[in-house]
Amino acid sequence: MEQPPRPTLDSVTTIRDDGSRRFLFPADARGIFSLLRRASGLFLIAFYLSLPWIKVGGYPSVFLDVANRRFHLFGFTLAAQDAWLLFFLITGLGFLLFFLTALFGRVWCGWACPQTVFLDHLYRPIERWIDGDAVRRRALAAAPWSPSKAAKRLAKHGLYILVSAVITHLFLAYYVSVPEVWAMMRASPGDNWSAFAFIAVATGALYFNYAWFREQLCIIICPYGRLQSALQDDNSLIIGYDTRRGEPRSTVSAGKARAADGSAAVSAAPAGDCVACNRCVNVCPTGIDIRNGLQIECIGCAACIDACDEVMVKLHRPTGLVRYDSLNGFQGRKTRWFRPRIAVYTVLLLAGISVASWAFSTLRPANIGVTRMVGAPYIVDIHTVRNQFLARIVNKRTEPQRFVVSLELTPPELTAIGFSGVVVVPPLGEIVEPLILQMPRPKYNGPFQVWVSVGDEAGSFHLRRQVEFLGPDPRLLREEEQENARQGKSN
Ligand code: SF4
Ligand code: SF4
Repeated sequence: MEQPPRPTLDSVTTIRDDGSRRFLFPADARGIFSLLRRASGLFLIAFYLSLPWIKVGGYPSVFLDVANRRFHLFGFTLAAQDAWLLFFLITGLGFLLFFLTALFGRVWCGWACPQTVFLDHLYRPIERWIDGDAVRRRALAAAPWSPSKAAKRLAKHGLYILVSAVITHLFLAYYVSVPEVWAMMRASPGDNWSAFAFIAVATGALYFNYAWFREQLCIIICPYGRLQSALQDDNSLIIGYDTRRGEPRSTVSAGKARAADGSAAVSAAPAGDCVACNRCVNVCPTGIDIRNGLQIECIGCAACIDACDEVMVKLHRPTGLVRYDSLNGFQGRKTRWFRPRIAVYTVLLLAGISVASWAFSTLRPANIGVTRMVGAPYIVDIHTVRNQFLARIVNKRTEPQRFVVSLELTPPELTAIGFSGVVVVPPLGEIVEPLILQMPRPKYNGPFQVWVSVGDEAGSFHLRRQVEFLGPDPRLLREEEQENARQGKSN
């Protein structure tokens, strides 16, 4: 049976020298962090998967209704025209992540990232339930094929595919809502080809990731993991090994290392507290040895803390040989929580929150767009100069709205055809109608700006769009009119 090599800093434990994959069989850790992670992981799974079910303001709390170009976020409804606000939301989350990483290291990776949460709290428990603990899993992987092994593999991968399909369906519900997913499930795949293809591909991708790829995503692909060294410094909270306390390592047994009351070492040679049991390595889901120092593969899952604490308790030694601390803390220096990097991230975060709050406060319950119709920019007949536009009014509210359309600061001779009186737009709907502006030929003296305004009847808000009224060179119009007049006289 292949045993993993001793992890070093210049190799990746999961990749053999010939480049092939070495699979890990991380042992289970037991302790306070494992318990807390289990609780928070199950809560997050419930949270991620229940968002499409929980309604806020009549809509799922997160409903990215792409078909109707509406985004419902915890009671806020954004139209496609408001998508620019998502920029502030995403950059705000980015700054928040920078801020948290600078303070608390990879707390996101170990505690909240969907990759870790689903792997550690859904897929690994299935594996443990069917294949057994790490020793049994390793033995089963090395064993020749037998009916029992085939049955276990079938059961495990069948459950993986089932769980992946459930997650994918609920993920699709973020985009089309739960009732729509349910309707699609009962219809023939041919009726919803694109959704069916999405489900098939996404289920396959999840299955591949959680059944086979696993920690490789964190080690090789995730860009956030690569950013760690830039975001953290010597005062960031990390999971590390206390070299000053642990070294030199000894391999003496618990009884010999220290008396039961922990007071007096009885081994012959002076030794650190690390007994080189390798328990911290065995539980590590990325296969690294935390005693080699901070490594990019460490996802901050805290399994090695629990593993080492368990050993220390058995040896009647203080816990915390592997613990949360800063690099300065591990060196015996004071951890500085407030530092220039934190100040910069705080300012960026506050600026992001302020701008996002302002942007959301400018949200209006409607949107208007006025665009010139394709074709000639203007039309001239014997009486008038005309410009033709298409006006689009979008109702972003979930109830019908009545709008009044008017022209502002325009020459008194300018008249509008279309959008007369009150315009009623259905909930989350829109209407698109021609808006024709015209003015008598003799009054046209060159291009000018027109403001098209849309407001509600109560006057609580109004939106304006500027368009340009175009026409031919007025001198040509005058000459043509004079010519027509001359011809009229001579006739
Ligand atoms: S070194 Fe410790 S915290 Fe980091 S991934 Fe391994 S077990 Fe988790
Ligand atoms: S679990 Fe603790 S004692 Fe055992 S090898 Fe790791 S650091 Fe040393």
